[in-house]
Amino acid sequence: ADSSTAKPLSRDNLGGLLDSVDAFLFDCDGVIWRGDSLIDGVAETLSFLRSKGKKLVFVTNNSRKSRRQYSKKFQSLAISVSEDEIFTSSFAAAMFLRVNNFPQDKKVYVVGGEGILEELQLAGYTGLGGPEDGKKVVDLKSDEIFEHDKSVGAVVVGLDPQINYYKLQYGSLCIRENPGCLFVATNRDAAGHLTRSQEWPGAGAMVAAMCAVTQKEPIVVGKPSTFLMEFLLQKFNIDCSRMCMVGDRLDTDILFGQSAGCKTLLVFSGCTSPSLLQDPSNKIHPDYYAGKVSDILQLSGP
Ligand code: PLP
Ligand code: CA
Repeated sequence: ADSSTAKPLSRDNLGGLLDSVDAFLFDCDGVIWRGDSLIDGVAETLSFLRSKGKKLVFVTNNSRKSRRQYSKKFQSLAISVSEDEIFTSSFAAAMFLRVNNFPQDKKVYVVGGEGILEELQLAGYTGLGGPEDGKKVVDLKSDEIFEHDKSVGAVVVGLDPQINYYKLQYGSLCIRENPGCLFVATNRDAAGHLTRSQEWPGAGAMVAAMCAVTQKEPIVVGKPSTFLMEFLLQKFNIDCSRMCMVGDRLDTDILFGQSAGCKTLLVFSGCTSPSLLQDPSNKIHPDYYAGKVSDILQLSGP
């Protein structure tokens, strides 16, 4: 769809959208919640969609939590979502290794958080690094060789508030000294609302640091990657053309849905303002846009 065909969601077109879709894929931050608070009307809207028999799937690029931790978060927000309806970029990283038959006797070095380590462990892999290496310091006055585990066969980079020089050296040695070593990025978001009041550097900043030192490009497994979409489609056996991706970011969510042939709905409850949609420099256009998810419920009412 180009900008002239991106339509505001309305009473007139909502029925058609609902009839043409069996599943809704929801981005989380900026769509379902903002930080730790639920966005107005979300719970009621999700119940409404479930009552219409729609399959609901939740897809977040935030790698800091595992699926188990996200299902707890949903629970704490009084929304009933099961773990297998949740796809995080941390889970996607672990599944990417599984799908590619990454051997269990090789280790995975993690520049990232607990969410990635937990998903790796659940998939049967041994993760190294993570928060623990956040305390490590390098001694540049010593001329000793910086050693790394030669059995590392993959480096996973995600958001890491404890990123440091030690981790960059460790991860880059794994990648540079073993030509077969996989370089996996959970996502490349430039920035995110890690706190309510402000944006902070996103995983893309950590990934860019690792790219700079290794001079290699990673395989991205979160949105907008086709890996995640294909994995998801296979798991649920849904037809892309009967799915609608709902998100607040054009270059991750909307692109993710559009590349697969899903319908797309952009909401303005997160990081995108209506003016960006009108900006001539923007090349990504959703099928529909709305203020927030609960517009679905409101527009379907009397
Ligand atoms: N990554 C991090 C670290 C974040 O904090 C966020 C949002 O809070 C995101 C990614 C984006 O998450 P989502 O894909 O749910 O919008
Ligand atoms: Ca989002």
